[in-house]
Amino acid sequence: MRVLVLGGTAEARALAEILYDGGHDLTSSLAGRVASPRLPVGQVRIGGFGGVTGMRDYLTEHRVEAVVDATHPFATGMRENARKACAESGIALIRLARPGWAEHPDAHTWHWADDYDAAREKAERWGQRPFLTTGRQTLPFFTSAWAGREVLLRVVDPDVEVPTAWRVVHDRGPYVIPGEVALMRQHRVDVLLTKDSGGSYTAAKLAAAAQLGVPVVVVRRPAQAAGVTTVDSPEAAAAAIALLPGA
Ligand code: NAP
Repeated sequence: MRVLVLGGTAEARALAEILYDGGHDLTSSLAGRVASPRLPVGQVRIGGFGGVTGMRDYLTEHRVEAVVDATHPFATGMRENARKACAESGIALIRLARPGWAEHPDAHTWHWADDYDAAREKAERWGQRPFLTTGRQTLPFFTSAWAGREVLLRVVDPDVEVPTAWRVVHDRGPYVIPGEVALMRQHRVDVLLTKDSGGSYTAAKLAAAAQLGVPVVVVRRPAQAAGVTTVDSPEAAAAAIALLPGA
């Protein structure tokens, strides 16, 4: 089948491998946000489609037969566009969303927030030196309010402008617990801010925080798209593709 995988996640790369090995005509799509992205196997296109209309045109032009939206759980703009473009084009859409951390053994000890403003306010209650791991796009919620704080920020790309009091670490997962403990100790982190990205790639910080007795503030996930077949692993997404007519 001619399959388009909307990617930018480890799960999308794993799915690309399964579909590629299975002989599908596969293209992965990346937004182009990261300077040197980890590339999946198979064909790759990079850059936005140009909204719902642009994506619809792409699907028609490239005679795509199925789309797997394997974007990050917080990439809601792409998710909605994919839902609309596929519905309007009559093309099957499968959503691959890794499980969140709500079932994590420590989840009941965390301070859950509905959005970034609420997360910032909660973090202010729990510490002075936050470890901010919610991603580059969320920086506007923190830079002014925390201009005078010793914030430890971790981002993938180095091109961020932050207050001079902040320390920036450029890195991307997977991380391990000893490394996270050492980093948090080194910077005397006393509160961790994250969003409920889920999965194992970036989960070590949660165990490290528990080990160090550092409070954790977690931004809740946006609700899943209604009416879309949703699976939680690359294997399940490949199985759902195999069940489609024409596969
Ligand atoms: P977003 O806000 O949902 O999407 C904004 C726009 O970016 C979309 O309308 C689309 O532009 C373009 N876009 C997003 N994902 C795309 C893809 N896979 N292929 C082609 N165009 C894409 O997305 P985001 O939160 O900025 O995330 C961007 C990418 O980074 C995604 O691939 C996502 O999986 C990955 N990522 C996001 C996060 C996060 O926390 N949000 C974390 C890790 C990785 P057009 O309207 O022009 O088509």
